[in-house]
Amino acid sequence: MSYINDHLKDLRRFIAQDTFTFTLTTLLFFLIAVIFLYLYFALETSPALIWPPVGLALAMMILGGYRMWLPIFLGLFAAMLIVSSGSLFTMFAISAGYALQAIGGLYVLRQFNFENDLGKLRNMLIFVCVALGVTCIAPLVSTAGQMLAGTLSVDPSLSLFRAWGAGIFSMFIVTPLILFWYPFNKGRFAEDAFHKFEIAIATLFLLAANHFVFWTTLPQYIGIVVIFVLPAVLIWFALRLHPRWLAFAVTLTAIQSVAGAIYASPSNNPLNEQLLAIEIYVGLVAAIFYVFVAVVEERRSAFARLSEAYEITRASEKSKNEFIAILAHELRNPLAPVISSLELLRSQENDPQKNEMIESTLEHTVMMRRLLDDLLDIARLEQSKIVLHRETASIKKLVHQALPSVNEKAKSIGHTVQVSLPEEDFDLYVDPVRIKQIIINLLNNALKYTKVGGKIQLFCIKEGNEAVIRVTDTGIGIAPEKITHIFEPFKQLGSSSRYSSGLGIGLFLTRKLTELHGGRIQVESLGATRGSTFTVHIPIIVPPHTHIATEQVPIAADKTSTNVQKILIVDDNKTAADILCKLLSLHKYEAKVAYSGKEAIAIASSFVPDAILLDIGMPDMDGYATAKALRALPWSGLIIALSGYGQPSDKSQSKEAGFDDHLVKPVGIEEIVAALSGKRRTSS
Ligand code: ADP
Repeated sequence: MSYINDHLKDLRRFIAQDTFTFTLTTLLFFLIAVIFLYLYFALETSPALIWPPVGLALAMMILGGYRMWLPIFLGLFAAMLIVSSGSLFTMFAISAGYALQAIGGLYVLRQFNFENDLGKLRNMLIFVCVALGVTCIAPLVSTAGQMLAGTLSVDPSLSLFRAWGAGIFSMFIVTPLILFWYPFNKGRFAEDAFHKFEIAIATLFLLAANHFVFWTTLPQYIGIVVIFVLPAVLIWFALRLHPRWLAFAVTLTAIQSVAGAIYASPSNNPLNEQLLAIEIYVGLVAAIFYVFVAVVEERRSAFARLSEAYEITRASEKSKNEFIAILAHELRNPLAPVISSLELLRSQENDPQKNEMIESTLEHTVMMRRLLDDLLDIARLEQSKIVLHRETASIKKLVHQALPSVNEKAKSIGHTVQVSLPEEDFDLYVDPVRIKQIIINLLNNALKYTKVGGKIQLFCIKEGNEAVIRVTDTGIGIAPEKITHIFEPFKQLGSSSRYSSGLGIGLFLTRKLTELHGGRIQVESLGATRGSTFTVHIPIIVPPHTHIATEQVPIAADKTSTNVQKILIVDDNKTAADILCKLLSLHKYEAKVAYSGKEAIAIASSFVPDAILLDIGMPDMDGYATAKALRALPWSGLIIALSGYGQPSDKSQSKEAGFDDHLVKPVGIEEIVAALSGKRRTSS
């Protein structure tokens, strides 16, 4: 009861406050009903009934709610008063039947949680089912009404089925058209000029296809071909254009087909039979294509959502990599004074116990630096920023340069490391730094994952056109089910804390570096506790013919090794500068410090150093500006960059500014001494 009261209140509000919509919808309904009732009676189309008011009524209900029953009822009743000659009761029954049908349609749709978005398959399927089922309400009510009034002039089943068929046809054509296009300004009509052009061309094709199918006698001769022409054009609309345009195409087809039957009458059959055939054919085509377009639209929007999600993931992946790169870089910088201090302490300490502690701290700090280096490399790899600096290097030289990094550790754990090199040395055209990194990573893992006193073997051979580097250990081995994941990032197979001192990125990095060289890496293990073998294959490629040495930094004649004695250290980090100064003094250099670029220029004139170790990131006057100013002085010593940035672009920038060498922080004293003595620049 209260529901009816609420509804009546709503209706009063609708008429009083929204009079414009109320009048417009009533008039619209009235006009359309008048036109099609007139056609029905004037052309005597029964049993075919072209009856758009059914589709219009459901669309009005979906958009305006239950209160729309009133304009539907009034519009239809008024139209029947004008056009039809039946009794008032019959007209009332028919009008009430259509209003009730629209109410029933909306009710069922709401029961199934229908959303006004026919672009979704679920909504479209609900709509199609409702269109098939609910359209029997009005025929039932109006046929029963006419029977009661005794005004039914045809067989009841004919009255029922012609109105039902008309209702289905009308709902399949008119309702989607309104729902897709209302409101008119929702979304754009076309994406761009090309899209507009395509819509125009497709419409022309459709007009032509409809003309052949519904206005000419062609289908009687080549019926099959013509029947396929229309669906082909509709497929074009459904696949390429917005569903709105498919609704437009379906409606255009319905209009053209009905008009063709009336005006051109291409077939010999009576008009009513032609119209009935059109109702069935076009109605079926409409239903199939609306379901099809919903599938296409759903796929399209799923793809758009997927692309959006992909973009978000990519952006967050990018910022994660940038974050890792910045973090690793920022963490590396403070390690510089820590390593220098430890080296200083080590060289000054005579107490073996304390020395052992310093040694162990130094070892851990160096390991931390290595992990940070690996993290930086991973971030660069993900950003495709790692560039190989290939040069010719012999396998023996590469191995000999890699071994010192692991020998001491092996000795301290009590492992024996056996190295087997080919009798005949051979050259590789590779990035020596990266190949050494691969060898060191594999050897370090072998040391780490082998119990004390184990045996580690490194074999290097030439097999065909490949260099094969194999590291075998007698360690904890790898279980067969885990072996496939071993090269994935952040995968750590073991749980024992004794072995878990890494991040699980070493092997991933090793694989990536191998692949960058065009090679591959494999692992074999007979299972847990039975040792492992890692094999790296690097293709031997011929270096391009060039006589220009790419990586070597030219050294001025007066900047050679042994003369370097007086060193100026320039760094705004006071602690780092002071510790390095002490360390260099211990190594018998005469060292001085400057804490800014300006101070460095002033001291350089009086102190006249043989080499300047110059930090790049400094406030006011950075390393590049300082180097340029130093090079403008009548002084020609070495300038070596000490920087947290070590990308090839950073190195070439420092070279341009007048630096002779570029060391990446944190650097150990050995590396600095090597740079000062010129060894670094000729060997690496
Ligand atoms: P990390 O050593 O830092 O954990 P890696 O990527 O180098 O990372 O190795 C990944 C995992 O592979 C290790 O955690 C370890 O479980 C396993 N692994 C690597 N090398 C060996 C080896 N020589 N023997 C046994 N297991 C190994």
